[in-house]
Amino acid sequence: MKFGGTSVADGKCIARVVEILDHYHSTGNELAVVVSAGHGVTDQLVSAAEDAVRADDGANLDQLVLSLRTRHSKTLEAVAPDHHDEVMQEIDARLGNLKNILSAVHNLRELTPRSRDYIISFGERLSAPVVSAALRQHGIPSVALDGCEAGILTNSEYGNAKALPESETRIRSRVVPLLVDQVPVIMGFMGCTENGSVTTLGRSGSDYSASIIGAGMDADEIWIWTDVDGVMTSDPRMITDARVIPMISYLEAMELSYFGAKVLHPRSIEPAMQKDITVRVKNTFNPSHPGTCVIRREHREKRVVKAISYIEKVALININGAQMIGRPGVAKTIFSALADNHVNVMMISQGSSEANISLIIDENHLDRAILALAEVVKEGIVREVTTNRDVIAVAVVGAGMAGETGTGGRIFSALGTAGVNVMMISQGSSEVNISFVVRGEQGPCALRALHDEFRLSEECHE
Ligand code: ADP
Ligand code: ASP
Ligand code: MG
Repeated sequence: MKFGGTSVADGKCIARVVEILDHYHSTGNELAVVVSAGHGVTDQLVSAAEDAVRADDGANLDQLVLSLRTRHSKTLEAVAPDHHDEVMQEIDARLGNLKNILSAVHNLRELTPRSRDYIISFGERLSAPVVSAALRQHGIPSVALDGCEAGILTNSEYGNAKALPESETRIRSRVVPLLVDQVPVIMGFMGCTENGSVTTLGRSGSDYSASIIGAGMDADEIWIWTDVDGVMTSDPRMITDARVIPMISYLEAMELSYFGAKVLHPRSIEPAMQKDITVRVKNTFNPSHPGTCVIRREHREKRVVKAISYIEKVALININGAQMIGRPGVAKTIFSALADNHVNVMMISQGSSEANISLIIDENHLDRAILALAEVVKEGIVREVTTNRDVIAVAVVGAGMAGETGTGGRIFSALGTAGVNVMMISQGSSEVNISFVVRGEQGPCALRALHDEFRLSEECHE
């Protein structure tokens, strides 16, 4: 069971978490728990790391440490008064460590990807001991483990590390034996490389941690506890009448999360899928709601489209040039140049005239992409490259679209009627997803039009 940042935000929230865990533990289940940092803490750490390289004085550092100390001490006082002093010793030691690293970054004016990962892993280093103490206070034996101690071994792609297969045996030997008589609380979001340096798994990575741990211990199910009732037909912050989807396939959930549905980390399905383990998404603040079940089988509803997600932090690149026509290897040159510069390409579309290739990339990679493509222009392989940051990529997802004619027609005529101008279209061969790109300001209108067209706010009687 993984609990997200809002679920462990303060004493009141952690008391609910303990209640939930107690319920499932006392009914005879063996449980391992993964926790995120308290809501907002990782953001604070990210800013602190970035400020440390820039700032002229180190004054904010004391402020940060004090605010984190006060917050966790208050929470401990509320949920584990008997363990307050003992756990505060541990927290103080960690905060001392954090302060030293941030000071070093400040003095050297150098923040490496490796030190950044270590710094931003501290949110979970502070939250897990508190949740573990709250369980002990409630009479449930518990220890806190960091991601590395729990067995998550990763590659060294700092900031976005991926678990290595060796994690599985480590998790089995380190976590499983504990389950007999305790409920271990594992710090999400982090792992370590072979030589022991700390890595993080990408923002929102605790979902991925939960799935790695669940798969490693051959769990019956992996439950992601969050602040909404489940995976919904669209982002509820954007579409207020979005509904919970009771059942969704691994592939559908993966497509939704790749395209920005924040409720699940994009890689959180993979480990579960490999072991065919059901993933359930449930609401910490409404635990009796059944939530969403993510399973292997394509769950075909009457509805062909199940959900719509979108991603804002993307940029569109148009690569033009008649030189591209009929010339083998042009795509290879373009994509190699991008790959060599670590640009993450999220969507591709090529016109049949071959005179144009359009790409959607991670917005943070745009500068690198422009530099890489400038070389390709210089070599005369393409004529011009234009870019646009002000775009949104939207994905319409549903296993029912496969083999069903007319869905594309419905999507694009609904967008036309709503006055939305589509800049690029792409459909994967799995046919679980049709995605397209529109101007940033037209994003909300596009989502609304499609949510209405496919009547996603209405209950689906199957
Ligand atoms: P946690 O801290 O528990 O990991 P997150 O904030 O990462 O929670 O993810 C939950 C949030 O994801 C929800 O509050 C909701 O605003 C957002 N969200 C975006 N798209 C969806 C979707 N399709 N279904 C459910 N929630 C979504
Ligand atoms: N605390 C990390 C973040 O804010 C990981 C997570 O919450 O899943 O990104
Ligand atoms: Mg999350």
